[in-house]
Amino acid sequence: MTQVLVSVGSNQNDPQKQIQTAFMAIRDQFGRAQISKLYLTEPVGIIPQNEFINAAISFKTQSNSSEVLAYLMQLEVRAGRDRSTEVHHGPRNLDLDIILFGDEIHDDAELQVPHPRFRERRFVLEPLLDIAADQIDPVSKQSISQLFHVCSDTSWVRKMDEELLAV
Ligand code: AMP
Repeated sequence: MTQVLVSVGSNQNDPQKQIQTAFMAIRDQFGRAQISKLYLTEPVGIIPQNEFINAAISFKTQSNSSEVLAYLMQLEVRAGRDRSTEVHHGPRNLDLDIILFGDEIHDDAELQVPHPRFRERRFVLEPLLDIAADQIDPVSKQSISQLFHVCSDTSWVRKMDEELLAV
């Protein structure tokens, strides 16, 4: 079984519901899964847009990374995401990124894991701390917790009071 860490984010069409729906679908597909607290986060880039809600999800699977990626992209489409009309760093109904896929390293056109920018993103690292602080990044050999403590991203990230409903 491979431990998978996924970053999830949304800033339009009821972000909390988008994340809840994605989490439940992942649980249905892969069995037991864990989700972090929800975080309100500052959008990356210069496009004026609503703040995001971000979280991290962890689960184990026997599927390979291409199969997991295909499933997550299907969830994005189900959430109404249409890449053809999307703006880079613009608003999103649902964004699901594979951050770590066990200790696998891929640098292919379709999949790069570990995710190439996750170490520089506070909105990815802070939620991951809740559920995978000791997980090791196979590239830097640092734990999530170590990466978080040296991360210089100054974007704001605020833990929300709301818990996801455990349905
Ligand atoms: P995005 O617009 O950030 O959701 O990018 C999705 C695209 O990035 C998809 O076409 C994926 O094939 C590709 N991709 C590469 N690496 C990853 C990854 N680690 N997680 C999710 N998508 C990835």
